[in-house]
Amino acid sequence: MKQLYFPEPFRIKSVEPLKMLTREEREEKIAAANYNVFALASQDVYIDLLTDSGTGAMSSAQWAGVMVGDESYAGADCYYKVQSSAKEIFGLPYIQLVHQGRAAEKVLLPVLLAGKKYAISNMHFDTTRAHVELAGARAIDCVVPQALDTTAYYDFKGNMDCARLEQYIAELGAENIGVIIMTITNNSAGGQPVSVENIRKTRAIAHKHGIKFMIDAARYAENAYFVKLREPEFKESSIADIVKATFEDADCFTMSSKKDAIVNMGGLIGCRDKALFELVKQRTISFEGFITYGGMSGRDIEALAQGLREGIDENYLRYRIGQMQYLAGRLDEAGIPYQSPVGGHAVFVDAKKLLPHIPYYEFPAQALAIELYREAGIRACDIGSYMLGNDPDTGKQLEADFEFTRLAIPRRVYTQSHLDVIADALINIKERASKIKGFCIVEEPPILRHFTAKLRPLD
Ligand SMILES: *Cc1c(COP(=O)(O)O)cnc(C)c1O
Repeated sequence: MKQLYFPEPFRIKSVEPLKMLTREEREEKIAAANYNVFALASQDVYIDLLTDSGTGAMSSAQWAGVMVGDESYAGADCYYKVQSSAKEIFGLPYIQLVHQGRAAEKVLLPVLLAGKKYAISNMHFDTTRAHVELAGARAIDCVVPQALDTTAYYDFKGNMDCARLEQYIAELGAENIGVIIMTITNNSAGGQPVSVENIRKTRAIAHKHGIKFMIDAARYAENAYFVKLREPEFKESSIADIVKATFEDADCFTMSSKKDAIVNMGGLIGCRDKALFELVKQRTISFEGFITYGGMSGRDIEALAQGLREGIDENYLRYRIGQMQYLAGRLDEAGIPYQSPVGGHAVFVDAKKLLPHIPYYEFPAQALAIELYREAGIRACDIGSYMLGNDPDTGKQLEADFEFTRLAIPRRVYTQSHLDVIADALINIKERASKIKGFCIVEEPPILRHFTAKLRPLD
């Protein structure tokens, strides 16, 4: 019997028709795309799980806001609304709009890293790592070791390894470290949550050594929901109170609003210190636009002011995390391995375990992504050796720690029936797993190859 974990706290007012191709048509499309899912037209995809970023469905209140949005260059009404939403939710006194998360990083990180050599994080997201390196510093990941074992249960696989963090500070010298970054949830470890206890401990270590403490807050609300479920201190707390505890005493944050704030484009920077904020404002004017719009349209700012509040609604979060738990539950029943317990925005299927006969250099997670498209028109992506690429010095294929096929679930977009299609497709694939073949690359650019490489199935 199917258990309904997560009743949708909404009904559907507007629908977007989906095309359903035949298996023969899908075979043609994926061959024409050279077996690269990024080369598929979205119109040829039935269920698109490429990312949860900017792909959410806005509410009727957000769409109404789109008409209300004030497009004035300076001092627009929507600017004051988003200031008031963000200050109330995060508790930091200075908030700057930017057009997306990486823009926030581009504005803030060079300020924090000026004259410094290192940034340390529980795990840097790829754009965060890129902006640390562009600022002339090195990015060091310091996640707890439990994150690396996909089958072992641990409440907070996203946590910082605080003992190792102390060691790094002792070895590298506190004066060389520009910032300690807590990414919530920990995207690269599989959307895994970080406990408030771990945030407090990490922040105390940073401040003891005079290092700035920053939160990469893309999934602040999903993280807070996990805290409510798993951290006894917060069992009775509201999501709003957990978010406040999360950001307490943080020096600054960057945020991609395309995730938990449920808008299609947008980003934020928060600062506690006025002097830091003055620098942020100046750089925003150069890179993004005047401070009251920061690279965003008034209509999108209005939708963001509303989305920030909707993102922390507990009924919404129960449904949201419930979707992951439902899909993961169906995979458990079928014995399909994934990063467990399931995280907040995606199910990371363990292709290394599902397709053990395909070696890393024949890209098992990519093979599984292609098979999902063939089977049911589902678009997922490889987070494994195919994405990792070649060693820049030797040109040899690197072997990734994980071979994940990531099923990222957009917010408020797909129904439980869609989740069943995904689970059923994986179950069918598992039955013929031993017959699935790997891939080789026939053409690739030198960096970020997974977006544009061309592949060929092996016989
Ligand atoms: C998406 C994301 C970013 C970058 O945000 P964009 O809006 O895509 O530029 C940074 N950090 C994390 C953890 C993210 O998930």
